[in-house]
Amino acid sequence: MALLKIVVYPNPPLMDVAAPVTDFSERLQQLADDMLETMYHNEGVGLAAPQVGKSIRLIVYCDYVSDPVCLVNPEILERHGCEYSEEGCLSLPSLYATVPRAKSILVRAQDLDGSPFEFEAEDYIARIIQHECDHLEGKVFPDRLDLISKSSVLKEWEELVRSGKTTTKPITD
Ligand code: ZN
Repeated sequence: MALLKIVVYPNPPLMDVAAPVTDFSERLQQLADDMLETMYHNEGVGLAAPQVGKSIRLIVYCDYVSDPVCLVNPEILERHGCEYSEEGCLSLPSLYATVPRAKSILVRAQDLDGSPFEFEAEDYIARIIQHECDHLEGKVFPDRLDLISKSSVLKEWEELVRSGKTTTKPITD
């Protein structure tokens, strides 16, 4: 396993639409393992492949209660309700905002072997999945805010960049 460098906003390929995963070899398993290790190292709850420089449709997440989950080519088929809660992102370190998300979702994805499955998620897990799936569309959480909130959050981000507070946890081991 290896720690990966996290891409910070607005560097590529963060703003790109990621390509579907077609290669279900050992390499995909290795990337998923490395992404999980990188996520734990940075005390995150989710990570999408574009955040480690791979523009493919793979996300990992963990709520630290259940086992970690890897979703390949995830699609949100249904969204129900709306909830506001605070979000952050490893690609926008030290920045937080209250973001609206569907309360419950129906997800279709493949596992690391390519087998398809569907499941429902709600509340916190649904929020993580929606956040990570946005990364696969080249979106970050400020894109989910109304225009005024978005511009004030991005202004705050510019301040953080200027003051040098936007580095992720260094890779030390
Ligand atoms: Zn994120």
